[in-house]
Amino acid sequence: MIVGILKEIKSQENRVCMTPAGVEVMKQHGHSVLVETNAGAGSGFSDDDYRAAGATIASSPADVYAKSDMVMHVKEPQPSEYGMVRPGQIVFTYFHFAADEKLTREFMKTGAVSIAYETVTGPGGVGLPLLTPMSEVAGRMAAQEAAKYNERVHGGRGILLGGVTGVSPANVLVLGGGIVGTNAAMMAAGLGSRVHILDMNLDRLRYLSEIMPKNVTPLMSSPAKVRELAKEADAIIGAVLVVGAKAPKLITREMFKDMKPGCVLVDVAIDQGGCFETSKPTTHTDPIYEVDGIIHYCVANMPGAVPITSTMALTNATLPYAVQIANKGWQNACKENPGLKNGLNMVGEKITFKGVADAFDLPY
Ligand code: NAD
Repeated sequence: MIVGILKEIKSQENRVCMTPAGVEVMKQHGHSVLVETNAGAGSGFSDDDYRAAGATIASSPADVYAKSDMVMHVKEPQPSEYGMVRPGQIVFTYFHFAADEKLTREFMKTGAVSIAYETVTGPGGVGLPLLTPMSEVAGRMAAQEAAKYNERVHGGRGILLGGVTGVSPANVLVLGGGIVGTNAAMMAAGLGSRVHILDMNLDRLRYLSEIMPKNVTPLMSSPAKVRELAKEADAIIGAVLVVGAKAPKLITREMFKDMKPGCVLVDVAIDQGGCFETSKPTTHTDPIYEVDGIIHYCVANMPGAVPITSTMALTNATLPYAVQIANKGWQNACKENPGLKNGLNMVGEKITFKGVADAFDLPY
């Protein structure tokens, strides 16, 4: 199979969907890899790195689409690409169709086979293995951002998360003990903060109690517990997810008057609407704003800030699936791997993922 690696063209996206190491693996399996020129530049990989791994460099996206049996991206294809997609071509990337009706309808017209990273599931249908690495990155970054924006120069309280000899560390409250929350708590704890992590799932709390270091206290989440701990917090990291629903608003503006001025709220759940009443999406170029003396950081694509780490983390997860599709063809690969089949969102005009069909009242 000829596998096409496209350069990301979405604003501020510097990741790439396959590294030169991935190209080498594809070659070992007998496939050809066509890489759009400069595709890896934002992640530290040159065209020569890809050539050395055995890829051919294509001069344009049109060339990649015209010659490849399967094309890969990180983000959803942009409008300028819709006309380049060929009927029967496999497109393997993050699509998030259910959030974008125009993209869904345009892709139905292309006749392509669309396999979405975000709906591929792990063994037994458990977990989302192609989303998890980005939650790990965002969670770890959340603690870093909380530390940075706590600096007075950014309007924060001016407290060092870990304190220093003879001086108390900061209090960090993490709401949600899933992938993002666990990684945020680990990092904040590693910096020396006193961390509370809240979740509503007792099994998850049991697990967190076993694995967390001594300066992290996992507790059952309730409105009263959130109110109590928010008053003492120097930073609050929002990491809740209720599957298929908007994030619940756990911190309200009303609560700000009892909180410490300059407290930093990092709302990682902003891509699901955010879990603080006052959250609104921000960007890496203008990441924070202030409401009633409380600093808000609400960047919706946090992993984009660290493309080298994010690219490696993402491609470690996607490559085995890409190899399966290339080796067996999408039909057989999906037959043999039900988790991959869950990633199949569209075949030609037919929607094959219920959530997408339901979102726009389309036949399924
Ligand atoms: P996850 O499913 O692993 O964890 C979510 C946790 O929230 C679960 O353990 C759940 O029990 C808990 N929860 C639900 N309601 C709660 C409540 N009221 N109080 C306390 N805990 C509650 O999800 P995740 O992978 O950790 O992702 C969390 C959020 O971060 C998602 O919205 C995800 O889309 C988002 N995210 C954002 C970025 C970004 O760049 N901003 C990147 C990655 C993930």
